[in-house]
Amino acid sequence: MTQIPSVSPTFPSRLPKVGTTIFTVMSALASEHKAINLGQGFPDFPCDRALIEHVNQAMLNGRNQYPQMIGIPELRHGIQEKIKSLYGHKYELDSEITITAGGTQGILTAVLCCVSPGDEVVIIEPAYDSYRPAIDLAGGKAIAVSLATIRDEHNQVSSYEIPWDQLEKVINPKTRLIMINTPHNPTGMVWQRSDLDKLASLVKNTNALILSDEVYEHMVYDGAQHESIARHPELVNRSFLVSSFGKTYHVTGWKVGYVAAPAALTREFRKVHQFNVFTVNTPMQFGLAKYLEEAEHYLSLPQFYQSKRDFFRAGLKETGFKLLPVPGTYFQCVDYSKIQSPQSKLNEADFCAWLTTEIGVAAIPVSAFYETPIESGVVRFCFAKQEHTLTDALHRLKNL
Ligand code: GLN
Repeated sequence: MTQIPSVSPTFPSRLPKVGTTIFTVMSALASEHKAINLGQGFPDFPCDRALIEHVNQAMLNGRNQYPQMIGIPELRHGIQEKIKSLYGHKYELDSEITITAGGTQGILTAVLCCVSPGDEVVIIEPAYDSYRPAIDLAGGKAIAVSLATIRDEHNQVSSYEIPWDQLEKVINPKTRLIMINTPHNPTGMVWQRSDLDKLASLVKNTNALILSDEVYEHMVYDGAQHESIARHPELVNRSFLVSSFGKTYHVTGWKVGYVAAPAALTREFRKVHQFNVFTVNTPMQFGLAKYLEEAEHYLSLPQFYQSKRDFFRAGLKETGFKLLPVPGTYFQCVDYSKIQSPQSKLNEADFCAWLTTEIGVAAIPVSAFYETPIESGVVRFCFAKQEHTLTDALHRLKNL
């Protein structure tokens, strides 16, 4: 009998430039070297027991079959109320709010539903690493502009600014979508009302849609308010608002988020959503819906994280790192270019690898948020950690 040789089929990669995400890479390196993981953004403390009990109860009550494709009404209602009370815009319950399997799925689905091959999509780098692959999968053309890096008298990075001149140049009739993110991962910067006004004036006579990634919406500090796209009457009519319960309720592994958008956008969004995940797990939705009834659970978040931020910053001030401002998110960026160590000359990825393996603290290189890495000597730490974790990390960093 003749043996037919087995053939391994080959095919061109849809994402040839993509490897494993930097978050997974750094978490693996941290665990291999028993480093304190301040890289990937997730809390190292438990969520509220009451939230788990709500989910348990939902399971015991038999809430274990498919929910509605768009998400259960109780949860959509909670989201509707929250957005209305915080940002003043009332999304329609049945036609404008969809529950997603986390923010990332919401982003991919939004991009896939509106971007056709050849369409231009504007992103602002450093940009969260899922944006560009989402655009590539849709066949769109990512047009990246970079945040302007502001430097101090020692040539160290001190803050970032939205590059309005560049945005004005790249937004044109071919722009299908503009992706923004506030509070911003990784820099922590937040958009102001005047920024949204500027964006509104740039898109006024265009067909451009906006995707506003607001997964850190409840982490805005020092008494400032989060400038949601939902606060802006002009922009809200052309925007997908993406948010996530993972960040807000310390349950990043549950992967539940939502996308709110005008009915015409939501209609297209759901066409893709139903064949992408169809729906999101039922008991989690019931648990979250119940928990969302108490506004204090998200209203208390700025204070909660602001204390962690201040604690971490106070410790970092004793090191050679230069601290960048953190008006929002649970990320602290630092410039390492003047630390007392020859490693200050390393590029960001190598610096993070050294910090993880030799010092025992994992961080994320900001360069990973660019298509063509821009080296500014800045890395990102996550401070969503218990005080003793931050103390241990600070102890390891103190001689730098
Ligand atoms: N959003 C998280 C961060 O920026 C990571 C999420 C992920 O690992 N995909 O760290």
